[in-house]
Amino acid sequence: MNASKEPVKVLDKGFVRLVDFMGGDQGVVDAARVSYGGVSKGAEADKKLIGYLLKHSHMTPFEHSVFKFHVSAPIFVARQWFRHRFAAYNEVSFRYTEVKDYFYMPEKWRGQDKKNKQASNTAIELDQPALHAMFTKQVDEALATYKKMIEMGVAREMARMVLPVNLYTEFYWTVNARSLMNFVALRADTHAQLEIQAYGEALAKQFKDLMPWTYEAFLRDGWKGENPTIAAEKAALPALQTAAK
Ligand SMILES: Cc1cc2nc3c(=O)[nH]c(=O)nc-3n(C[C@H](O)[C@H](O)[C@H](O)COP(=O)(O)OP(=O)(O)OC[C@H]3O[C@@H](n4cnc5c(N)ncnc54)[C@H](O)[C@@H]3O)c2cc1C
Repeated sequence: MNASKEPVKVLDKGFVRLVDFMGGDQGVVDAARVSYGGVSKGAEADKKLIGYLLKHSHMTPFEHSVFKFHVSAPIFVARQWFRHRFAAYNEVSFRYTEVKDYFYMPEKWRGQDKKNKQASNTAIELDQPALHAMFTKQVDEALATYKKMIEMGVAREMARMVLPVNLYTEFYWTVNARSLMNFVALRADTHAQLEIQAYGEALAKQFKDLMPWTYEAFLRDGWKGENPTIAAEKAALPALQTAAK
């Protein structure tokens, strides 16, 4: 496996860190072949089998390859992330631990998209310095109030109510390859919010490094989204060799 267990930086202070991994492409092949007592027929046949499974939506073998990630993401990203139910989650408790100065501070403010009510637009000119100043002041004040409330004896579980959703949270995320493909398809996509897209892209890279055959098959037949980087990868895939008659 090529993927590093070093944290991969995402946004200004977030990361995705691979903690553990099992199965890989071979895990998928073995799970698929167990149904008829078969064994590996060599790399080329195994890779083809993965392509066949994905193309024909035989998805359960992909559930036998599992990734465990340690993620640091702003709370508003985590809220979107946790909608993905086919995974296991454990998150830091701000009832238990005191919040630190660990907030997502966007580099650039985006405007409201005029056509898509759910989207933003980077082309819209905004007063960036004024927005940065206003936002930083608000975050600083929220953190100061939080600390003051704790000093005054308020429980952490209540004092946290004053904090904004750009606060970073941390969680463990254990996800199988089938569910990860669903996550990447939906979140490494230009329809998703830019911040979660950054995580989707970081995960796509780890997925590619750890399960190159499955990733290739996913690009060919599973991924229907919009993302310039992934679209370029898909375009660069070699043509599939068809068996000579
Ligand atoms: C661009 C974008 C915008 C979004 N906007 C909103 C929004 O405005 N409001 C909002 O609430 N959510 C929104 N979502 C979240 C979205 O509705 C999903 O909750 C989220 O993407 C998780 O997808 P999922 O259900 O496929 O994943 P998972 O929960 O991991 O489920 C994986 C798959 O399992 C199957 N499955 C899971 N649960 C069930 C079930 N109960 N019944 C049948 N099959 C099931 C489905 O095939 C599903 O695709 C948005 C998502 C995206 C990507």
